Amino acid sequence: MTSTQTAGFETVALDTALRPAELVGREWLTDGYVRIRVAGEALVGFSAPGADDHVRLFFAPAGAGVPGTAEEWREFPSREYTPLNADARAGWVEFDFVIHGDGPGSAWAAQAPIGAGVAVAGPRRSNAVAGEPDAWFLAGDETAVPAITRFLRARRPGTPARVIVEVAPENELIPIPADPASEVTVVVRGDRSLADALAALGADDRPAGAVLGYVAAEAGVVPVARDLLLDRWGLPAEAVITKGYWRRD
Ligand SMILES: Cc1cc2nc3c(=O)[nH]c(=O)nc-3n(C[C@H](O)[C@H](O)[C@H](O)COP(=O)(O)OP(=O)(O)OC[C@H]3O[C@@H](n4cnc5c(N)ncnc54)[C@H](O)[C@@H]3O)c2cc1C
Repeated sequence: MTSTQTAGFETVALDTALRPAELVGREWLTDGYVRIRVAGEALVGFSAPGADDHVRLFFAPAGAGVPGTAEEWREFPSREYTPLNADARAGWVEFDFVIHGDGPGSAWAAQAPIGAGVAVAGPRRSNAVAGEPDAWFLAGDETAVPAITRFLRARRPGTPARVIVEVAPENELIPIPADPASEVTVVVRGDRSLADALAALGADDRPAGAVLGYVAAEAGVVPVARDLLLDRWGLPAEAVITKGYWRRD
């Protein structure tokens, strides 16, 4: 950490276990966003301590049977997701999926039958928060909402948080935790974009003190976020996470 910044992210290594499980619950939160619960004995003890931890989910195709080894699971289609809620004693984990097309992740979340096989690999590492930030800046599209939700929940109560989320029109009512210290802006894709909203922020919009910034969205947003957080706001690299969570086409 630099001398003027008293908070940052530190990488912590975790395990690389692959845990077979099955789909046990599906709750539609909007027309394009669905909460999935997966459960199984192997998820007892599952831990994802960091707000933006991610695991790789392997989806067993219908009729493929349940693999007996990690190597067999790893041959199935897989994508990255953020554990939102988990119960390590009961052995279940919940994920929120964006439904956007017919990729294996989106299709599985929307259509797989209850009981479908899935394996959870990781998280392999966490971004732990070191120090106490004075403010948070959290932005992204629907794919980042689970991590943003976890950052908001985990922060010290009352710490100011500026949140900007870009969503498809059908996801305008996506659930994001609100409290008096957070200011949440939902940008509806098509009217405006997250990149526009980030580009419109200037040096005067920087929250005071030690700020931690997290921006995750379509890959094209990353350079716009870095221009804001690192250049215009002058945050140190260790106080900033910017990540492309998916790539258009
Ligand atoms: C660290 C990390 C954490 C992530 N956490 C989550 C999470 O918690 N929830 C979540 O929903 N996603 C999350 N993602 C994003 C998710 O992994 C990608 O969106 C992934 O591509 C979805 O796979 P798919 O099989 O549905 O589509 P793919 O087969 O990968 O892609 C099919 C088509 O859909 C397009 N596409 C992919 N993603 C999107 C999207 N989100 N919106 C619109 N079009 C898209 C692609 O450009 C392509 O044209 C995360 C990604 C990373 C790297």
